Amino acid sequence: MFIGHYGVALAAKKVDKNISLGLLFFATQFVDILFFVLILMGIERMSIVPGITAANPLDFTYYPYSHSLTASLLWAGLFFVVFKITSSISGSRNNRIALVVAAIVLSHFFLDVIVHRPDLPLFGDDSYKLGLGLWNYVISSSLIEILILVAGLWLYLKSTKSITFGGKYGMIIFAVFLIMMQMASLFMPPPPDIRGFATFGLVYQLMVVGVVSWLDRKRG
Ligand SMILES: [Zn+2]
Repeated sequence: MFIGHYGVALAAKKVDKNISLGLLFFATQFVDILFFVLILMGIERMSIVPGITAANPLDFTYYPYSHSLTASLLWAGLFFVVFKITSSISGSRNNRIALVVAAIVLSHFFLDVIVHRPDLPLFGDDSYKLGLGLWNYVISSSLIEILILVAGLWLYLKSTKSITFGGKYGMIIFAVFLIMMQMASLFMPPPPDIRGFATFGLVYQLMVVGVVSWLDRKRG
């Protein structure tokens, strides 16, 4: 899943307004960011197989460290521990930020299950693999992603306020950009090479995190 993950991050702002949206976007895309890094390091693997799903040509051949259920639980646990320690150091006894951030990290796996082919392993690569395969239906998978993003945006706009132009419309304009990028990806030719794809993915995700943290600061 792509932009649907962002919808979950936006919605989480309703639970706790004090968590930076940049952090929530980083958390929701953490396993993809890790995946791109592991691809560039040669540890995880994917290939481009045109036609493998109707929506995209991505064949995830080996990604147990970023995308298995066990790894997702461990990464979510790690985020919980880090943010629990950070909040204890800052004198707060509030576990909420740690819980929200960990839940967002874990949500990535379950949203991916909706769209991926059965390629998401439970443990290691040779374990049972999950995936409902909605990417085989371009319209349904695109609609679900857009719906989750719009619902998240609506909750975000309801739980934060701004009187400036940038604060009022910035996030809406950026969400339209994200939807257009997702739709454009349906018509783009397959990426020519994996390293280029991973580098672009990594830079794009970090750019999105940067833009939303900047826009979020414009809303109280
Ligand atoms: Zn993913």
